[in-house]
Amino acid sequence: MNKYKLLIILCFFLFTLCLPRVTATIKDLNLLGKVIVLDAGHGGPDQGASSGQIIEKDLNLILVKKLEKELTSRGAIVYLTRENDDDLSTTIVNRKRNDLYNRAKYINDISPNMYISLHLNSTTSPSWRGLQIFYTTQNKENKKIASTITDYLNQHFSNIREIKKDNTYYMYKFIKTPGVLIEAGFISNPSDNYLLRQEDYQNKLIVLITNAIEKYYQKD
Ligand SMILES: [Zn+2]
Repeated sequence: MNKYKLLIILCFFLFTLCLPRVTATIKDLNLLGKVIVLDAGHGGPDQGASSGQIIEKDLNLILVKKLEKELTSRGAIVYLTRENDDDLSTTIVNRKRNDLYNRAKYINDISPNMYISLHLNSTTSPSWRGLQIFYTTQNKENKKIASTITDYLNQHFSNIREIKKDNTYYMYKFIKTPGVLIEAGFISNPSDNYLLRQEDYQNKLIVLITNAIEKYYQKD
């Protein structure tokens, strides 16, 4: 056998060794090319809820940027409604309403495969805790997205609340594309407040939310 034949055989052998890996990679690319809009709640003069060291608008943006990075690393095309400490309002009168309207318009104009709005919850009772996902019935996929993410997170965390239908939110009534609102925890609860400030927890939460979105797109 001459050395060229040997080289060809060796190459073929190496190629077949690579095959299962290639197949596995393709199967895992559920997010490749998916257009996702991430909406960090509040911003600018609207700081959202606050408790202790947490100001909602700031932590929403931190989490959204981590989510952007994770989704992008898996092939998704990600847009953010805001990238800085500002809202989307173009008016001074009815600023909040105009901000929400413009967020919905931004999402509709892009017409993504999915949008995720990210907020933090707060209430007067410090015992309320946990991440909760809200969905509207505007798009029939919304409930499925909420359930898929919630079921997945439930396997990893003990503080996940049941999904909740809510058609009353002004902003989400206008959004036609599939998506949900994630309230990542109650900052009025000492335990949630502590966890949400830990970078390890933030990173774990973001990876798991991304896994869950990937699972939603999995075709099996
Ligand atoms: Zn909020």
